[in-house]
Parts: sequence; structure tokens; C-alpha cells
Amino acid sequence: MAFSEGTSGSVGRNKVRKKNRLAIDGGTPVRKGMLQYGRQSIGEDDIRAVIDVLESDWLTTGPKVKEFEEALSSVTGAKYSISVSSGTSGLHTSVNSIGVTDGDEVIVPAMTFAATANCVLYQGATPIFADICLETLQIDIHDTLEKITNRTKAIIAVDFAGLPCDYTRLREIAQEHELCIISDACHSIGGKYKKEPVGSLADISVFSFHPVKTITTGEGGAITTDNIRYAEKARRFRNHGIDSDHRQREKAGSWFYEMQSLGFNYRLSDIHCALGLSQLRKLEKWISRRNKIAKIYNEAFRGNDFLETQRVSPDALHAYHLYVVLLNNEALKVGRKEVFGALRAEGIGVNVHYVPVHLHPFYQRKHNTSPGMCPNAEAVYERILSIPIFPMMSDGDVEDVVRAIEKVCNAYSK
Ligand SMILES: *Cc1c(COP(=O)(O)O)cnc(C)c1O
Repeated sequence: MAFSEGTSGSVGRNKVRKKNRLAIDGGTPVRKGMLQYGRQSIGEDDIRAVIDVLESDWLTTGPKVKEFEEALSSVTGAKYSISVSSGTSGLHTSVNSIGVTDGDEVIVPAMTFAATANCVLYQGATPIFADICLETLQIDIHDTLEKITNRTKAIIAVDFAGLPCDYTRLREIAQEHELCIISDACHSIGGKYKKEPVGSLADISVFSFHPVKTITTGEGGAITTDNIRYAEKARRFRNHGIDSDHRQREKAGSWFYEMQSLGFNYRLSDIHCALGLSQLRKLEKWISRRNKIAKIYNEAFRGNDFLETQRVSPDALHAYHLYVVLLNNEALKVGRKEVFGALRAEGIGVNVHYVPVHLHPFYQRKHNTSPGMCPNAEAVYERILSIPIFPMMSDGDVEDVVRAIEKVCNAYSK
């Protein structure tokens, strides 16, 4: 008996040792497959909605476009919604709508996806990079104020990770300096600031419906505004600069149209819009699930010496497109790169959002940006990891993420 007990005891100890050993060093991973950091949710209702359009008369510029735009207006509280082919074309359309042109400057945060800055270049204007706040990871107000010149036409505020910016302060600045606020709300549909929904907080708001975002149309995007001039200009811009669409002409029994300005084909098809409409019905439920997952993470990481989390203002309802952790380099003997690799080996599909835009070779080469220009964004970039968050994650999945992070941090503890 003693013998067999001893045997099982030593097997047990080996198991424990194997369990604590990092998967990257040959230990047992926390998960077998890879848990992605984000993933779309497509249900039978979504599939049916798309099939219905395929069997209908209008594949594009049809009734689903208008229905989707009306539904977006009702979710965001904005008067006008204009669907477009992507978040990027939405950003381009919005800077065009407010009249950004050659010689203008537009202030953008350094910590964002490149498209936020690229849209300014499409108009022949110059993106000016503002640093970010170390706690909220949003555009830093003080640095923004310092970067305003008499050429500044607009500020593009990014609701980083889904956390709406301080639009009260941003609107004050806009009034004082006679400039526009564009909200890059590609992360934050369904979020709120002081009880007002994202989409009605800035002069124009821009959404993306790429599959990693909160609702998807495959590819797609939209802009929302209360300003009829911006809305009309946007509708023309997405349709070659032409003032009526195919369906309006068909209704009027007319062939005549005029091109009033130079535009693009940035339209979103009825197939996409039907999917978006079906997805939008689930937005509230999904935002609440994302917040539940974030709450589990917040509680699990509270008091943890190895990492910090984003500071969230009590005025904001976070949409949690991403859940970002910032590693504490003082507590860990390795850098972000090693933690990233070790977590992926454990089956946790972490990611990094983003490489600061001013560090991309294109911007350094062509627009004279360089390291040191936005020290907070650069410091944060060395520390951030986006960990999995999406509505279909089970509580067990969330636990796996927490366990893997604890395991990796303990193993790399100083
Ligand atoms: C996704 C994203 C975009 C671009 O949207 P697409 O639909 O991929 O063109 C722009 N800005 C931010 C902050 C994004 O996350």
C-alpha cells in the first residue's frame, strides 16, 4: 500500500511540475486549440437574412441599405446614417464632408490603426500625431491642445478598445478653436458617454463592420451625423459624386443624373446591409456579455503586480471591442515579446493593438515622423497585449485566459 501510495504521490508531483512548466518550455498548455482574441458571431437568423436578399430584386442600392441606415440612426441617436464599404472609406468620407483639403492639418492619436491617419493624407492634408494618456490609452488632451495651429481643421478622437473619449472636453475645444471633432468609433458601437450613445457624440462618427469588430457585415462601415450638409456630401461622395442613385432614377422613370463633385464607389450592398441589420439586433446583448467578461478580468487582475488595465471613467459605458492589459516591466524578467509567445503557446491567442502609426516606415520616410515624438504611445506599445474577448466566449474560456496569464506571469516573475 505504502509503495503504491508513494508511486501515485510522485506521479502527482510530476504532474504538478509539468502543469506549472510553460507550454513554450515543453509543459502542458492551458488549452489544446488556440482561443482567438476576437471572433464574429453568425447565427441562423443572419444567414437567413442574407439568403433573403439573394432571392430578392435588389442586391445593391436597394431597400436593405435604407433599413440598415435607419436602424443605425435609432441605435446611435444620430439624425443621419450613411453606410459605406468599410471603416476606412467612412473615415475618408468624413474628412471630405467637413472639407479637409490641401494644406490643412488634422490631429490624430499616435496609438490607433493606420487608417485613422491615412484618411487625412487621401485629402492632401497632414496628420499631426498627438500622444496618448498612459491610463486611458486615449488621445491626450494637453498634447492635443499644444498641437493646434491655425491650419488645424479637425481632431479625430479614437474610442480606443471601445472606451468613448471625453467628448464634453473635446467639444469645448472644438468650439474654442473652431474645428470639427470626428469620432473614430470603429471600436465603440454600442458604447455610451454620459448616457449618450456613441454615434451622436461628435460632429461625425465612423464605424467599421469588419469581422473582428463588434457587429459585422463581412466588410463594411458607416458614418453618422446630425449635420445635413455633411450627410448630403457623404451620400454623394460614396456614389461617384453623383446626386441620385440607380433606384431613385428607376422610381422617377428617368435616366438623367449629374456628377457634382469627384467621388468614389464606397457603397455597401444590400447583402451586407441585411447582415448588418440582423447583427445590430443583437448589439445590446453582445455589449452586455462583453462587459460581463471584462468584469471577470478586472476582478481577476485587481491587485496583480504583473499588469495594469485601462482606466475607465464612470461616465463611460465601455463597448470592450478589445480588452488590453499593460505588462509591468519592473515585475517581469522578460519583455512583452516573450509573454506574447508564451501565452500563444498556452493556446491563448493574444494580439497587439497597435504599432504606433508614426513609427511605421511609410510615415518615417515620407512624413518625417520618428521615435521619440509620442513617448507615451511608444512606452505603452512595449507593454500592451490584447487578450481574448468576444460574446461567444464561455466562462470556462475566460477562466483559461486568466489561468494562462497567471501561469506565465508567475513563471517570468522577477
Ligand atoms: C478597424 C479600424 C479601422 C478601419 O476599418 P476597416 O473597416 O477595416 O476599414 C479604422 N480605425 C480603427 C480604430 C479601427 O479599429
